Amino acid sequence: MTGLTLDRLRRNGQAFTEELSREGYLAHSGHKSEAEYTPIYDKYADVLGEEALELTLNAFKETAKGTEEHRSASLLLEWQLESQASRSLADLDEKEIAWESSAVITTAEGEQIQYQAAVIEIANEKDRKKRIAIDDARVKLVAEEHAPLKLERLKREKDFIESLGIASTYNAAFEEITGVSLTNLAADCAAFLRDSQSMWDETLPHHLKKSIGIKPSEATRSDALALLRASEYDGAFPGQHLQSSISRQLKEMGLDPTAGGRIVYDMGERDGKRARAFCAPTRVPEEVYLVLRPHGGAHDYTTLLHEVGHALHFANVRSDYPFEYRWLGDNSVTESYAMLMDHRMQDRGWMLRYTEIGSGNVENFLRLAGFEELHYLRRYCAKLIYEVQAYGGAATWDELPDLYVETLTAATTFQYRTADAFVDFDPRYYSTRYLRAWQLQAQINEALVSRFNEDWYRNPSAGPWIVNELWSEGQRESAEEIASRVSEKGEKLSFAPLLRNIESLLGS
Ligand SMILES: [Zn+2]
Repeated sequence: MTGLTLDRLRRNGQAFTEELSREGYLAHSGHKSEAEYTPIYDKYADVLGEEALELTLNAFKETAKGTEEHRSASLLLEWQLESQASRSLADLDEKEIAWESSAVITTAEGEQIQYQAAVIEIANEKDRKKRIAIDDARVKLVAEEHAPLKLERLKREKDFIESLGIASTYNAAFEEITGVSLTNLAADCAAFLRDSQSMWDETLPHHLKKSIGIKPSEATRSDALALLRASEYDGAFPGQHLQSSISRQLKEMGLDPTAGGRIVYDMGERDGKRARAFCAPTRVPEEVYLVLRPHGGAHDYTTLLHEVGHALHFANVRSDYPFEYRWLGDNSVTESYAMLMDHRMQDRGWMLRYTEIGSGNVENFLRLAGFEELHYLRRYCAKLIYEVQAYGGAATWDELPDLYVETLTAATTFQYRTADAFVDFDPRYYSTRYLRAWQLQAQINEALVSRFNEDWYRNPSAGPWIVNELWSEGQRESAEEIASRVSEKGEKLSFAPLLRNIESLLGS
């Protein structure tokens, strides 16, 4: 073989990751019609070869727990596994991206809608009958074409990880490598669903009746999309002030919104651009793209804040850190910075200062925000519980669609559809990253309030503190380590601060 060393793996791994990220940025932003990942995987064959996996596995086993070497080795090993799994699925991913960018749904009335725009159309459609008709057409296409692709991907990914023999099951292998306990997190999620049940039962009927004029027993997931669209507040979130308002806030907290020109904002309309916004760090920290396709209203503000959190994080990582600390690690960390920013949309002072909501509407808006937060948390808790059962083999592939509908509908009251069981599924437990990020951002917010007061977001010392204490570290530490480092009493991650926040929003 070639005599691969960890240092060479870091060097080539970084070049490989940069090319993959750039290709993803170009394809998902509509600059290229399709992503060509295979040539990149071929070019960097040694980065994801057997030798590379063996090298990182040995480093993981041979280094002592608690040392910096072991920390590095575990990040590199996790990356190897994720990337080797992704490579084995690259052909399927290319097929899916090409399918998604060209797929069109046709409603019973003959109306044609781009598949990628269907969710936005449903959310914006005020006529409930039309909304359901679009969703029926979407579900038909998903069942026929998208779900089979997703199911095949899921099966192949599970088989691949199990074939490596790291642990006896897929779930045990995930826990072993990431240090995240699926059992504990799923139990916390079940407890959160129980603890917030009465709050949910009291809140939902009011919002459903007020916004859509229906009872909980009639509600479907397409109603949820329309309800949470909250278009009555669109006037308070003018599109022309979207970027300038958020930039102003960042400057007030002592930050440069472009991080010295390292962040590029791609906010224009373009054919083939994904509906879902994303941040593409193509070189960390030197070149970061923030891609957003504005749809109008409050949601754009939430989305831009979220992506700004990611972009500022990656663009402020110490450039002298090794590849694994700048690029790899626990994605709960970057998601928590994104959520710390997007949760300003639940912050009365922030809302009054940077949007046009005004003191007359802010209380109602915050109550709706509390309802939305509770809905999404309950949905994510249910998703994690479902995914743990799905990956854990608690049900056969054929039984999963019913289990999905049962679990998600019970948690959210909205009727889910079996067709979405494999499409609405985060591979490799990305939902664990979101849930732990949700918990961590609440703790970081509390830490910022105690250091810089309630309005930390406009304190010129807060931005530099976040850069030095948090963002510059990349993802060297886990979410658990950061939680105990920033909180005054070294608290553990939990749903408790989130539940407190929702209670206060609903009571406003
Ligand atoms: Zn994110």
